[in-house]
Amino acid sequence: MTILIAGGGIGGLTLALSLHERGIPCTVFEAAQEVRSLGVGINTLPHAIRELAALGLLPALDACAIRTRELRYLNRFGQGIWTEARGTHAGHDVPQFSIHRGHLHTMLWDAVRKRLGDAALITGALLTGFSQTIDSVTAHFADGRTATGTALVGADGIHSVIRRTLHPDDGGLRWNGIQMWRGAVDWPAYEGGDVMAIAGDMAEKLVLYPIAAGTRPDTRLTNWVICVRQGDGSSAPPRREDWSRPGRLAELLPHVRRFRLPFIDVEALVRATPEFFEYPMCDRDPLPWWTLGRVTLLGDAAHPMYPVGSNGASQAILDARCLAALLDGTAVPDALVAYDAERRPKTAAIVTSNRMGGPERVVDVVSERAPDGFTRLEDVIAREELAAIAGGYAAMAGFAVTPVSASGATATAR
Ligand SMILES: Cc1cc2nc3c(=O)[nH]c(=O)nc-3n(C[C@H](O)[C@H](O)[C@H](O)COP(=O)(O)OP(=O)(O)OC[C@H]3O[C@@H](n4cnc5c(N)ncnc54)[C@H](O)[C@@H]3O)c2cc1C
Repeated sequence: MTILIAGGGIGGLTLALSLHERGIPCTVFEAAQEVRSLGVGINTLPHAIRELAALGLLPALDACAIRTRELRYLNRFGQGIWTEARGTHAGHDVPQFSIHRGHLHTMLWDAVRKRLGDAALITGALLTGFSQTIDSVTAHFADGRTATGTALVGADGIHSVIRRTLHPDDGGLRWNGIQMWRGAVDWPAYEGGDVMAIAGDMAEKLVLYPIAAGTRPDTRLTNWVICVRQGDGSSAPPRREDWSRPGRLAELLPHVRRFRLPFIDVEALVRATPEFFEYPMCDRDPLPWWTLGRVTLLGDAAHPMYPVGSNGASQAILDARCLAALLDGTAVPDALVAYDAERRPKTAAIVTSNRMGGPERVVDVVSERAPDGFTRLEDVIAREELAAIAGGYAAMAGFAVTPVSASGATATAR
C-alpha cells in the first residue's frame, strides 16, 4: 500500500510523517523545484501542536517559533477590548506557536527527508490529473511521469488541481473584498515579546505577533498584517491570489497611519520591512464531499478559509492526523469515506464562522458601537457578549480548554 500525496506543504508533509509513524508507505509529489522558506507568519493552535508534539517535533518548533502567551483585541486607538491567555498559559498541555510559515515548512520538510528518506520527496512534480480503477489510482504529472498507489491525497493548496477535477462546477475562489498586506521584520520586542494583538475593525484591521527570536535578545522577528476592506465581496480580487506577490508601500501607508497603538509605532514598523506581500482574503464554499473512490482532499485544497482565528495550518495538520489514523487498519476506500465524514463538517463550520469574522468579531462589534473610542468598555458591550464571541469560536474550532466563563474581560482558560 502506497499513499500518493500531491503537495508538499504543511498538510501534505504532516500526512507523510503521520503515515510513516504508522508504517504506511507514502510519497510526496511537490510542484516546486526546490523548497524555499516562503510566506510570513502563521499561528498554530494547541490542538494542532499536540499532534506535532506526538510526532516528536516540539523541540524543533521551540527552536524556531514563539510560544504565544496572550492574545489582545484592541480598537485602533489601542484601547483594550478583550484579552485572553493562550497555549500553556491558558491551561493547555502544549503551547500555541506563532511561527514563520517558511520555518514551519522547512522544519517539516527536513523531518520527512530524515525519517522517510530522499526518495519519499519528489520535487518538480506538478500534478495535472489522475485516473483510478477499483484497485489503484494513478497520478499524472506535467512532465509525462505517472505514479500508481492505493490512494491519492490532494494536499495541493488553495488552487488545487485535484479539487477542480473532483468538482469542476465548484464556484471558485470567493473574495470578501478585503486586501491583506503581510510582512515581517526584526523589531524591538513589545509587551514581553510573546503577545499577539489584533486592533481595528473589519474595515481596517492590524494583526501583530512576534514569530521568532530577533537578531538581538531585545528584538523579535515581528509579523504584521494590515487588512483593508476594498470591495463588498461581489467582485473578483484586483490581482490573482499569489502568496508571494509584493505589496506597494504607497498603497498601504494611508491605512497604516490610522492605527495608534501605545506599545508600537506601526508606520515605522511597516517602513522598516524590506519586502512585504499582498494577498486578497479568499476562501471557497464548503464542498458536499471530498472523497471519490481512492482520491480525497486535505488542507487548503479541501477547505480554504479566511485567515481569522488562526486556523488554516492547524486544520490541515488535524486533517493529516485523522486521515493517517483511519488509513491504519482500514481498507482505503472506507478509510477515505470515514475521514470525509469526520473532518468535512468540522472544517465547514470554521469556514462559515470565519466568514462572519470569527473571534475577531469582538473588535468589529465594539468599533461599530464606539467608532471614536470609549471611556468605559462596559458601556459599549457586556463582558458576557465578548466571552460568547471569543469563547464560542474556540469551542467550535476545537481548541477550548474549559467552558467559557463570563466572569471577566481577562479570561484565562480558553
Ligand atoms: C508559498 C506559500 C506561502 C504561504 N504563505 C502563507 C502566509 O504567509 N500566511 C498564511 O497564513 N498562509 C500562507 N500560506 C498558506 C498556508 O501554508 C496554508 O493555508 C496552510 O498551511 C494549509 O496548508 P496546505 O498544506 O493545505 O497548503 P499549502 O501550505 O499551500 O501547500 C500546498 C502545496 O502544494 C503544492 N502544489 C500546488 N499545486 C500542486 C500540484 N498541482 N502538484 C503538486 N504540488 C502542488 C504547493 O507548491 C504547496 O507546496 C502559504 C502557502 C504557500 C504555498
